[in-house]
Amino acid sequence: METDQTTPGDADALPAPEIVNVKTRRVACDGGGGALGHPRVFYEIGEENFVECLYCDRRFVLEGGGH
Ligand SMILES: [Zn+2]
Repeated sequence: METDQTTPGDADALPAPEIVNVKTRRVACDGGGGALGHPRVFYEIGEENFVECLYCDRRFVLEGGGH
């Protein structure tokens, strides 16, 4: 099941997490640099085929996981 729909503007809602498609299980995130950046951290995608960054809530989704 996919949830590609963006949530309509809701004043109290948290911003929707950014989804980043990756092709390897080892990913690194530094928040994109700039004011929104954070220390670079590394994650390893497990059996769920995605991992969320603890700093910036980005979700890294493994491409082709169900091939
Ligand atoms: Zn991050």
